[in-house]
Amino acid sequence: MEKCPVCKEVKKGKYWCSNCQTVFVCPVQSCGAENRKRDATECSRCGLLFSEYIKNRKMYRQCPKCKKKQGLSEPQCRYCKYWFLCPTCGHKITSTSMLTCPRCATSLRG
Ligand SMILES: [Zn+2]
Ligand SMILES: [Zn+2]
Ligand SMILES: [Zn+2]
Ligand SMILES: [Zn+2]
Repeated sequence: MEKCPVCKEVKKGKYWCSNCQTVFVCPVQSCGAENRKRDATECSRCGLLFSEYIKNRKMYRQCPKCKKKQGLSEPQCRYCKYWFLCPTCGHKITSTSMLTCPRCATSLRG
């Protein structure tokens, strides 16, 4: 293990520090995005909730609209029906106010 640049303990693993729980690289295999915000609670690319993964090895995301937690692999919120990814082309939907996919114009209502 290496020295953690945040807490200076020699507890830094490949993805996160086991002492201060700062995440450096997203542990989702298909993502692997570098985390530049020290106090970020979720991955800016795939939406993984870091604390759930570190504590329970669960891949959850939080719906930006209704704030409920659910599996990261779900393309649509089970509770409020917000689409995380476009059902047609898989494009990431970043705004809760979008009514159509910006890439393929699929309707995102319901
Ligand atoms: Zn640390
Ligand atoms: Zn990620
Ligand atoms: Zn929701
Ligand atoms: Zn689309």
